[in-house]
Amino acid sequence: MRIEEDIKLGFKDVLIRPKRSILKSRSEVDLMRTFSFKYSSVMWSGIPIIAANMDTIGTFEMVRALSKFHILTAVHKYYSLDEWKNFINISSQHILKHVIVSIGTSLEEMKKIKEIFLLSDSLKYICIDVANGYSEHFVSFLKKIRHCFPNKIICAGNVVTGEMVEELIISGADIVKVGIGPGSVCTTRLKTGVGYPQLSAIIECSDAAHGLNGHIISDGGCSVSGDIAKAFGGGADFVMLGGMLSGHSECSGDIIEERSKKYMLFYGMSSNSAMKRYTGEIRRYRASEGKTVKIPFRGCVDSTISDILGGLRSTCTYVGAEKLKQLTKRTTFIRVTEQENCIFDIFNK
Ligand code: 5GP
Repeated sequence: MRIEEDIKLGFKDVLIRPKRSILKSRSEVDLMRTFSFKYSSVMWSGIPIIAANMDTIGTFEMVRALSKFHILTAVHKYYSLDEWKNFINISSQHILKHVIVSIGTSLEEMKKIKEIFLLSDSLKYICIDVANGYSEHFVSFLKKIRHCFPNKIICAGNVVTGEMVEELIISGADIVKVGIGPGSVCTTRLKTGVGYPQLSAIIECSDAAHGLNGHIISDGGCSVSGDIAKAFGGGADFVMLGGMLSGHSECSGDIIEERSKKYMLFYGMSSNSAMKRYTGEIRRYRASEGKTVKIPFRGCVDSTISDILGGLRSTCTYVGAEKLKQLTKRTTFIRVTEQENCIFDIFNK
């Protein structure tokens, strides 16, 4: 047994120090980025935020809404081939450019993803997604996918430490997805005792990835736009959001009406709700590592996105970053023991 003594930080442990700036208005801030990748020769331009590949969030409706903002959606892996065919038939190249196709590590999924990519050349991104990216099986699956799709942009995860980021990049990932346990409906840390505070994971993993010309996605743990800014400030190239995009019209799930208020269910992909839905049973050898929550229905996702982007632009003006790309260089974190003023919380309970 060994203990690492230095404290690892989450978003709530820091704030960003303001810096002298020549920017006059938030409208001068450019959130668009253009990326080139380690293996794929495809370039991608957009705002590097990604809707999570959870079945409630990564829907075709979400793709349509977010592509208007040049934002990516990682589409969940439960759509049938016919549903993909319909979606691709009615979608423009611009929409398809902002799609990430998700896949687990089974051979059936490998077969299905080959069929999906035959439907359109405009699809560029694959995300190989497992809860625990530390297994040898996962690494060898990643190598197979890279072999089959030499020119696609491949994301793989999740991991939280530099040495595993390096291994995944060397094994064929253009982008590594980082996060174990920070998610809003995740109970992994409680069930297993395993995890890593997200901001420290970002700092360690982005350093490892950038050293090899790779990129990272910070996945999970953002609950306000300030957290997204901290993730970019810490070195994340992309930020993936689940909970912040939940409860909107573009999500899948029924709207429940109770005492004339509307709600939607949001659940983790390893929750009992998801296991029952997709396997028809709760497997006895595994415990649920996700929870189900009922959240107020928030209508169309557009206003939430505008709010997030407004917050990010404001961060950039506070630190003098004209472009999102400059945010990491302009970021100094200060460690804090306080965040917002909660004086009015008692009235709003
Ligand atoms: P959020 O933005 O809601 O904080 O985090 C979203 C991320 O949580 C997802 O992209 C995924 O990585 C993770 N996640 C989703 N469902 C589950 C689950 O059931 N268990 C765990 N451990 N993580 C989950």
